[in-house]
Amino acid sequence: MNILSKCLMALSSGSPMKIKDVTFSRTGADYRATLCSSSLQQMIDECIRAGANETGGILIGSYSEDGSTAIIVEATASPADSLAGRSTFQRGVKGLKHLLDARWKTGLYYVGEWHFHPGGSPEPSGDDLVSMRNIAANPNYQCLEPVMIILGGNPTGSYSLSASVFPRGKAPIRFHEELA
Ligand SMILES: [Zn+2]
Repeated sequence: MNILSKCLMALSSGSPMKIKDVTFSRTGADYRATLCSSSLQQMIDECIRAGANETGGILIGSYSEDGSTAIIVEATASPADSLAGRSTFQRGVKGLKHLLDARWKTGLYYVGEWHFHPGGSPEPSGDDLVSMRNIAANPNYQCLEPVMIILGGNPTGSYSLSASVFPRGKAPIRFHEELA
């Protein structure tokens, strides 16, 4: 199955979307990530709900057959035990195991993290980089190259995205957004 049809499958379970799928890559890198429009819409909705506070959740999806591309079909809301402030966010864990067990039965799994920098740039902070390295190294996540997506700015107007991948034991790779 190609990436587009995976995204369309994700879309068909949600409401009609105006926004488009976004693909992130970097010349010479072995990895790419496609954020399906339905999951970008989920992020935007969550950021609007969070107002002036940070928020975030996990990214759920699958990989292309050659393993190079993470296809993100779901961006969850923040778990109830998350801690959020204006410039801090610590994602909780409540309900995630149950959710991931259910998704696993449909061939989808944990592929990374997303969070919101309200009114700010989507640049990863030092803490963001450390937490992603820890996730890549943590066998409980079973994810050798977790992706991090940050939405910065105003979710109802001009927002921007950053995306990075953190291959276990290697330097992180900052992606660029591919032009459609
Ligand atoms: Zn951050």
